[in-house]
Amino acid sequence: MDRQEKAIVIFSGGQDSTTCLFWAKREFAEVEAVTFDYGQRHRAEIDCARRIAEEQNVPWTLLDMGLLNQLAPNALTRSGMAIEHREGELPNTFVDGRNMLFLTFAAIVAKQRGARHLVTGVCETDFSGYPDCRDIFIKSLNVTLNLAMDYSFFIHTPLMRIDKAATWKLADELGVFDYIRANTITCYNGIPGDGCGECPSCKLRLAGMTAYLAERERRQSADAGDAFASGAVADGTDAGGGSGAVPARQVKPL
Ligand SMILES: [Zn+2]
Repeated sequence: MDRQEKAIVIFSGGQDSTTCLFWAKREFAEVEAVTFDYGQRHRAEIDCARRIAEEQNVPWTLLDMGLLNQLAPNALTRSGMAIEHREGELPNTFVDGRNMLFLTFAAIVAKQRGARHLVTGVCETDFSGYPDCRDIFIKSLNVTLNLAMDYSFFIHTPLMRIDKAATWKLADELGVFDYIRANTITCYNGIPGDGCGECPSCKLRLAGMTAYLAERERRQSADAGDAFASGAVADGTDAGGGSGAVPARQVKPL
């Protein structure tokens, strides 16, 4: 990726978009975040996004998208509406056209800021079948935005093909597993960190984290086993000491 370029991240303060924010910070020279206020029933989500952007020194813009709630009342915005997901149907947290609108408004901001790159945490892997989370839609909109504004946008979707466990793995590789676990809000009940543990979003997040931590544990035990077998640990003088710059398995006996 071009380190000279600037990216705009569509940022909700949840696990996925926060992982994307850190991914963009690694990939691009400059990063800004755009958050949409569409009447979320938990204002804590917007406060959470603002706080993370401030802590990470990322310029942050809040755009008023209240009309989305006017157009399509749904369970994410109406506190009187329970979250439901009937077999074979889209859940009632779905808002028609939401990602299309978010990306389009973010593209307008991006062009004004001289940014060509848009980053969004949409994912078609273990989500609920939202049509505007699909890769084919993103590619189609990318072409449309380029034609609409006579500009070369690049929409990046680092989470498109990965599941929740792999999203946690990416956070870990970016060095922000604990930060994301503690500071983001994914819960439909607006509870930060590990959330309420009961809503579909918390269950999905927890299942992914449990799967990833189990995989990490297995990998670490396998690595420790390799190190032991190669003699690096048994030696006791080289392993784990000194500057720590040399991985244990590459340490050669004197
Ligand atoms: Zn929850």
